[in-house]
Amino acid sequence: MKNGEKFKQTEPAAKSIMVALLFSLSILLLSACQAVPITGRQQVMLISDDQVSSLADRSYLDFVKSVDAQNRRLNEGESPQAAQTISGIRRVAYQIVDAAGLRGKYQWEVVVIKSDIPNAMVLPNGKIFVFTGLLPIAKNPAGLAAVLGHEVAHVIARHGAERMSQVLLVNVAGNTAAAALQSANNRNAQAISAAIGLGLQYGVLLPYQRAHESEADRIGLLLMAKAGYDPSEAIEFWQRMETAKTSGSRFEFLSTHPSEGTRRTQIARWLPDAKLYYADRSRPLPQNLIALEQARADFNTQAAASPIAQPLKLEKGSWYDFSRDRANPVRHELTEFVTCGTSECMSFAVSDGTKRILTRNFETYELRGRDGSWTRFSPALSGYRWPLRVGATWSDSVSVETSSGSKRQVQTKVDIVNYEEVEVRGRKFLAFKISRSINGSRASEVWYAPEVGYEVKLITYNSAGVPSNNEMVGFNLNKSLDLE
Ligand SMILES: [Zn+2]
Repeated sequence: MKNGEKFKQTEPAAKSIMVALLFSLSILLLSACQAVPITGRQQVMLISDDQVSSLADRSYLDFVKSVDAQNRRLNEGESPQAAQTISGIRRVAYQIVDAAGLRGKYQWEVVVIKSDIPNAMVLPNGKIFVFTGLLPIAKNPAGLAAVLGHEVAHVIARHGAERMSQVLLVNVAGNTAAAALQSANNRNAQAISAAIGLGLQYGVLLPYQRAHESEADRIGLLLMAKAGYDPSEAIEFWQRMETAKTSGSRFEFLSTHPSEGTRRTQIARWLPDAKLYYADRSRPLPQNLIALEQARADFNTQAAASPIAQPLKLEKGSWYDFSRDRANPVRHELTEFVTCGTSECMSFAVSDGTKRILTRNFETYELRGRDGSWTRFSPALSGYRWPLRVGATWSDSVSVETSSGSKRQVQTKVDIVNYEEVEVRGRKFLAFKISRSINGSRASEVWYAPEVGYEVKLITYNSAGVPSNNEMVGFNLNKSLDLE
């Protein structure tokens, strides 16, 4: 400790200045700690929301000015395609903002920038920027929700303000140490204070940056699920990012972010938490991670208590009535058994003149129109997998063929997300809630009640995400009930 000798020469005055500074710094720190919403992590906050907002407003104006100067803003009037792109992004963004409960708190705005860089960012004042280069990698609304969930999470967690506070602190701490060294008349003062600066930079700021990224991933995952998107799509998204990265695209967005591999591993670990929100979007966001863990434990206990459900063996003449958006009920009656591929299917005649052909396991094999036109699924659309069990999840690549000769491939994914009480026309059922998506977009949510042996409620979503409500109003499926 030869160097230590030199510190002994520190003048008493300098020493007491340093002590005073460190003391005031610690007081400042104690009074300036606050909890991050959702994770409950304590963060240093030396900057007020107003200060952050006015800084962000200025950045926003500067940035938009430079975007417009280069004619890079995508405008709705440009083409129908552009209008569709913007409204699609805006819809996902607002769903995320609503899930976060922040619609009224900021002046949200979505700006789409024409650029092949796959990037997105959000300013702390709620201004969202999406670069068109991100869209092919986001690929679908769920992929976009993964990115926007992450970005909005930075806003909720006030990462921008925390980082500014840290920079302030690091500067104060660095200057304090440097001042003490200077007055100690140390010949190496400059070198040492530079080293302190570097140490603070790499020891404090950079790890925080990584911690912020992880925290934004974690919060973002909950937000996308609460907004109605399958959170496991986030893993698919980061996989695509990695593939695109190795294929040599420009990646400014990623340079400050953790590797996609680390990211996917972490997200996979957090997925069960996010599934709580995919299962029940009305569930309030947690106060902290302990509350989240408790909620997950409660959910697992409840799920473990769900019954084993096997498909009903239906006989000819079985029927059920469904009402769509409160319109007159439509009857589905099992009129005959037909061959479908190598097995036997149930053919339901629907009172609107159409037909539904289902396998014995209630997978959709074919839909037939009034005029005899048909749409066929291969393999049959598997909306159920028996026995039903909460947490079960499966995906299929399904070929959809129509009588007009068209053929396309779709990716379907089904999750049994919950076993819960559902009310249909004033009557309560215990039901498995099943979420289904097609090509990453939510397609339907189904409540299957074992006591009925079929779905008692079904919400379908069109391509714009608009829901349609279908309710069972009566049935005779080995046992009967009239809910009218
Ligand atoms: Zn980030």
